[in-house]
Amino acid sequence: MNKEVAVKLLFVILFSFIGLGVFEINSYLIVVLVVMYFSYDFMQGKEQLEQRTNRETKELKNEIKTTTKDAYLKHKQLITMISNIPSPLLLMDITGKVVVYNKYFNLLRKEGRDEDIDYVNNDCKREVAEFLKDAFIFEKNIEKNIEVDERSYHAIAVPVTTQGKFSGCVILFQDITIAKEKESMQKEFIADASHELKTPISVIKGMVEILTREDFDDDKTRAEFLKQIGKETHRLEVIVRDLLQLSRLSADTIIMKRKSIDFTNIIDCCIDSFTMMASDKNIEIEKEYNSYEKVFVDWDLCTTLINNLISNAIKYSDHGPIRITTNEINNEYVVSISDHGYGMSKEDCNRIFERFYRVDKARSRRSGGSGLGLSIVKSIVDVHEGRIEVESEIEKGTTFKIYFKY
Ligand code: ADP
Repeated sequence: MNKEVAVKLLFVILFSFIGLGVFEINSYLIVVLVVMYFSYDFMQGKEQLEQRTNRETKELKNEIKTTTKDAYLKHKQLITMISNIPSPLLLMDITGKVVVYNKYFNLLRKEGRDEDIDYVNNDCKREVAEFLKDAFIFEKNIEKNIEVDERSYHAIAVPVTTQGKFSGCVILFQDITIAKEKESMQKEFIADASHELKTPISVIKGMVEILTREDFDDDKTRAEFLKQIGKETHRLEVIVRDLLQLSRLSADTIIMKRKSIDFTNIIDCCIDSFTMMASDKNIEIEKEYNSYEKVFVDWDLCTTLINNLISNAIKYSDHGPIRITTNEINNEYVVSISDHGYGMSKEDCNRIFERFYRVDKARSRRSGGSGLGLSIVKSIVDVHEGRIEVESEIEKGTTFKIYFKY
């Protein structure tokens, strides 16, 4: 039995005794007792109310503490997210003041000091400042490509609305420099490829025109033209084949069939297929295998790689020998192909892996090259995560070295 019930029971017994006349008592005392009873009840209620209020206040305090902690965490997460978006990003409020921005936005400013900036007063580079002003004034979606410090950005402004009314805007600057570079390389490549294809087509067209003239009856010229048409058709075939090969290699989705292969087997097969071409020019192909280690490569791609290098060594030499070696150097498998041919200057060596680059255009054309052989070689080495080096001296010869990781 608790204290409250015991006291109330005592009052009830007291009132019952008074009612039964057990005590002789005057009405004044009854009033006092009644007041005492209700005062006690009131005090009890007050105490309970206080206890409840205290409990509720404590609960409320805890709730506020948790909510504040939650809000702080969310705020921190949001700031972490914004600062790690690798593009300049900012938020302007209804007055045009920049209220949030990430560290990358400083790339588009002159000073980048941590001070208040807005759509008019800021230290942003000219094009960026203009974009901020437009984004705030026009209050609508805006997209524009801008150039800042030799980099290209795609700027996007999105208005923020509260209850349908403009309350600021979010502005993002996407760095599109690499995409633009790729696009212009692609355009350049298409222009070069079209030019390469146009040359043999024009030759064939011109000869066919002459051959089909009604008054044409020169048998010797006809035979020469037909031979030339055959050559140009073959050239077209080679260019198209190499273009397709290169486009397959530069696609990100290339599927390789890599296996652990004794690389000397690939070299042997390639040497066999060039015996005729080499002996036509009286060039010997020597080999010296100092390593028979297995390398994790794609057989077909590496056959193309070695074929292209041997073919060039024969094409660009008047005498031999051509020497092919394999070695293990610093935990890498090294294939070396050297010739005693025409050689190249240092400047040419730096450019020969570019598409359609030729040191001597006429010589390359005469030998039936597409100008893509070494670009294909480089792409094949790249997809194998290897590297290629070239050393050359004019009229002395050239050495290509390919390094594969095990
Ligand atoms: P191409 O079809 O013209 O041979 P490549 O891409 O295979 O095209 O080679 C590019 C250029 O590099 C060639 O035109 C040639 O001038 C030069 N080159 C390649 N290999 C050799 C070499 N072994 N010796 C000298 N020059 C070479």
